[in-house]
Amino acid sequence: MEKHNHDIIIIGAGLAGLRAAVAAAEVNNKLDIAVVSKHHPLRSHSVCAQGGTGAAMREKDSFDLHAYDTVKGADFLADQDAVEFFVRQAPQEIVLTEHWGCPWSRTAEGKIDQRAFGGHSFPRACFAADMTGFHEMHAIYGKAISYGNVRFYDEWFVTSLMVEGNTAVGLTAIEMKSGEMSAMRAKSIIMATGGHERIYEFTTFSHSTTGDGMAMAYRAGAPLEDMEFVQFHPTGLVPSGVLITEGARGEGGYLLNANGERFMKKYAPEKMELAPRDVVSRAEQTEMLEGRGLEGPYGPYIALDLRHLGEEKINERLPLIRDVAIKLGGVDPTKEAIPIRPAAHYSMGGIKANIKTETPIAGLYAAGECSCISVHGANRLGTNSTADCLVFGAVAGQEATKHALSISLRELSQDKLAAEERRLAEISRKEGTEKPPVIRDELRLIMNEKAWIYRRGDQLQSALKEIRELRKRFKNVRVEDKGKSFNTGFLSVLQLDFMLELAEVTVASALPRTESRGAHSRLDYPKRDDQNWLKHTLAYYAKDGPRLEYAPVTITKWQPVARTY
Ligand SMILES: Cc1cc2nc3c(=O)[nH]c(=O)nc-3n(C[C@H](O)[C@H](O)[C@H](O)COP(=O)(O)OP(=O)(O)OC[C@H]3O[C@@H](n4cnc5c(N)ncnc54)[C@H](O)[C@@H]3O)c2cc1C
Repeated sequence: MEKHNHDIIIIGAGLAGLRAAVAAAEVNNKLDIAVVSKHHPLRSHSVCAQGGTGAAMREKDSFDLHAYDTVKGADFLADQDAVEFFVRQAPQEIVLTEHWGCPWSRTAEGKIDQRAFGGHSFPRACFAADMTGFHEMHAIYGKAISYGNVRFYDEWFVTSLMVEGNTAVGLTAIEMKSGEMSAMRAKSIIMATGGHERIYEFTTFSHSTTGDGMAMAYRAGAPLEDMEFVQFHPTGLVPSGVLITEGARGEGGYLLNANGERFMKKYAPEKMELAPRDVVSRAEQTEMLEGRGLEGPYGPYIALDLRHLGEEKINERLPLIRDVAIKLGGVDPTKEAIPIRPAAHYSMGGIKANIKTETPIAGLYAAGECSCISVHGANRLGTNSTADCLVFGAVAGQEATKHALSISLRELSQDKLAAEERRLAEISRKEGTEKPPVIRDELRLIMNEKAWIYRRGDQLQSALKEIRELRKRFKNVRVEDKGKSFNTGFLSVLQLDFMLELAEVTVASALPRTESRGAHSRLDYPKRDDQNWLKHTLAYYAKDGPRLEYAPVTITKWQPVARTY
C-alpha cells in the first residue's frame, strides 16, 4: 500500500476546498498542502452555481440587514454569531476573487453589479452573468495552482477517514487510474465534499453529489447537524431537474399556474416570486396538488415566464438559462414560458462545525455545503452558499494551518488500514443478486415520495423502514466490473453506500421534529414550535441507526418572530 504524508489534506476541490487551499498556502509557503478530489476540480458542482454570491456592498445596505434576512430566511434556526461573522467577511471575498480574475458583471459606472434574490431585502447578489460559480471556480483554481506547495490529487476517491483517540490522523483513498488504495497522513484534514442531494430523484445537483464526506465523518464519530432540512428550489427544469436560476425571477420573471395567475400573490403578497425558496416551493406544490398545475408529458408543472423581459435582457443577463431551456427543455424563453417544478437543491445540514470550522473531532475541519456551521438554519437564502464556501473555506484554511504548525504527524493504525482494504476488496468482489442502480433508484423514489416538500409522520416512518430494508438488500449487491482502472461501477457502489447512510439520517432526523420550520414542513404539525423545537438536531453514528441529541441555537440580536413575506 502506498503512503503519502502532508501537513494539510483538503478533501474536495469545489469552491470551499479551493478557497481553503489558497488561504492555507497564503499563511505559510512551507506547509505541504494536498487537495484530493474524485474528479478534476473544475468538474466540482460549484462550477454550476448560476445566479450570484451574496454580500452587502452598497451604502444603503448593511451587515445587520443581510444578517437579519439570513436569520429570518433560516426560520430562526441559524446560529446568529456565525451569521454576523459571515456577512462581515463576505464583501472582502468578492473583492479578493475580483483580484484573482473573476469577471463580475458591472453597472454602467463600472461598479460590481448586484441583483435581487429571494428573501434578501436589498439587491446583493454579485454575479458573472448566470455563470457565477464557473467564473469563481476558474479564478480560484488559477490562484491555487500558482503556489508551489499545493499538490492536487485529481481523480482520487476518498473512502474513509482515520481517527485515533478523537483526533483525525489521515484517510484512505483509491487512485482511480490504478484502482489501488493508498493511505494518507495529515496533521489537519478539511472536509469540503459538498452536499448529498443525489439521495433524491428530482434534483438540480450533479451526479457526483452523493454526500461522501458527510457519511465518512459521521462514521468516524462526528455528529451530523440538522439533516432534516433539505432545500427544494422552486425552479428545476422539467424533466431533467437542471436548475433555472432564481436570478431569472431576480431579473423580473413570473411564476404562473394553469389559469395564467401569478399565484404567489396568495402566498407572499409583498415579496411575490422573490419570497424565500421554502415559501415559493410550497406554494408551487400546493398549486399542483390542488389541480392548478399545467399538465405535460412528465406530470404537472408550473410556468416560469420571462418573455416580458425581452430578448436583449435575457441574452445579456441570463444567456445560460436560455441555452439550457432550449437544449434541455425544448422551449426558447424569449418566446415561451419555461416548464419548472421544485427540485432538491441544498443540504442545510451537515458535519457539525463551529465558527472556526472546527468539528468535534480534533484536527478535522469542515467547510462549504458538507458542513453545518450553522449559517443557513432551516432554509438557506439564495447566493448565501457560494458566499459561505468562500468565507468559511478561507477560515478552514487558516485554522487548519495553525493546527498543523502546532503538532506532528501521527501513525495510522495498521489494523484499521488492513480492515479498510479488506472491506473495499469484499465490496469489489460482490457477486450478489441485487443491481446497485435498482437500489439507488428505489432510494431516490422513496425520498421523493415520502421525504419531499410536505412531510407526514406516517410517511417518514414508512420511508425509514424502506431505507433500512434497502440497506439490507445492499449487502447482497453485485459489482459487475471486476477491473481495476476507472472502475466507476465499483465507485458508484461506494457512493450508494454513503447515500443510503445519509438518507437514513435525513429521515431519522425529520421524524421526531414535530413542527414545521423552514424547509421541513409537516402536514401533521403545520406550526413552528419554538418552545419545543428551537434547537439543532445532532445525529451520531450508532450500529442500529442514528442516535439523536439536541443543541441550543445561538441567538445574539434577533428573537424569533412570525415569518411573513
Ligand atoms: C445548479 C446549481 C446552481 C447553484 N447556484 C448557486 C448560486 O447562484 N449561488 C449560491 O450561493 N449557491 C448556488 N448553488 C449552491 C452552491 O453552488 C453549492 O452549495 C456550493 O458550490 C457547494 O460547494 P462545495 O465546495 O461545498 O462543494 P462542491 O462544489 O460540490 O465540491 C465537492 C468536492 O468534493 C469532492 N469529493 C466529494 N466526495 C469525494 C470523495 N469521496 N473523494 C474525493 N473527493 C470527493 C468532489 O470531487 C468535489 O471537488 C447552486 C447549486 C447548483 C446545483
